[in-house]
Amino acid sequence: MKKIVLIVIIFLTISLMGCAAPDLEPSQAVVFGMDTVMTVTAYGKNSDQAVLLCETEVARLDALFSTTNDMSDVFILNRDGTHTVDDSTTELIEIANDISQKTNGDFDITIYPMVLAYGFTKGTYTVPNDQKVANLLESVGYQKITQDQNTVSLDDGVKIDLGAIAKGYLSDNLIEILKQHDVTSAMMSLGGNVAVLGEKPDGSLWRVGIEDPNNVEKYLAVAELSDSFVVTSGSYRRFFELNGKTYHHIIDPKTGRPADSGLLSVTVVSNNGALADALSTAFFVMGLDDALDAAKNFDGVEVVFVTDQQEIIATKGLEQKLFPVEDSGYSLEFIQ
Ligand code: AMP
Ligand code: MG
Repeated sequence: MKKIVLIVIIFLTISLMGCAAPDLEPSQAVVFGMDTVMTVTAYGKNSDQAVLLCETEVARLDALFSTTNDMSDVFILNRDGTHTVDDSTTELIEIANDISQKTNGDFDITIYPMVLAYGFTKGTYTVPNDQKVANLLESVGYQKITQDQNTVSLDDGVKIDLGAIAKGYLSDNLIEILKQHDVTSAMMSLGGNVAVLGEKPDGSLWRVGIEDPNNVEKYLAVAELSDSFVVTSGSYRRFFELNGKTYHHIIDPKTGRPADSGLLSVTVVSNNGALADALSTAFFVMGLDDALDAAKNFDGVEVVFVTDQQEIIATKGLEQKLFPVEDSGYSLEFIQ
């Protein structure tokens, strides 16, 4: 099945690449990486070459950060407890730990043993009992990671998962590649992570939809933006049901349980992809009030919260940029 999907994707990529022409025709790639289908669309003279390099970068970072590929930096580090890793892995772990500090540990890449315990990686779901959660929480804590340049070491039992920040970091690198090739207009969608470069070729702003957590075919609101990273974390993106209860994939590192904060999704808009990705996860864990407080500590970060009370609450910086979709059934309020 995977093979067929891959063949279709490769075919699509080749045929879409073949369409590229110098004028306003985009160069486009559809690639599979980090467990998602990703699309990159770029306009301009060198965009063909830039998009090809983007594909290579997706494969490179996927091969470093995968938790399941036994050649990846993360796999070897989790297996051996210490490993000398690539510069990109070094940099990303540093960024992750810095954000953990600034979010009081609500973002924490050492959450991986909990993610495994619920079966999110394999799709064979279980709910660990309190004793198991308590035991596993002993190996959760970003302070249990030590870094000496490129050599990373983990305390006993500690395992990391870069899944909440890797796509954001990748989007930073892809935007950089596009800029280096003088692409001035581009947009990419990497599973919950959207990035836009410049404006649309016709000079208008890019329109990025905020998904309805109850129906991903629909949008609740649309953000009109240029040069931005827009990242959404939501309980609706991955979950399972057991005995009438829903368990989703964003775990509160303090309790070891899926975060229960009254939110259905959090979208962060920023000029930094890795930061936006990590913060959307952390803010989901924090809940509305704490997240609004925490957001003040990050320059240029705007947030859209979708609550389980059918409200969209967005920070004031988005007032001229975020527009509700009619008849969504949700109210929209700007605060702070
Ligand atoms: P995202 O969709 O970016 O919010 O990332 C969620 C993914 O990151 C989950 O599927 C887990 O693999 C991992 N994760 C879950 N909870 C956390 C957390 N509190 N901090 C960091 N990573 C997490
Ligand atoms: Mg994230």
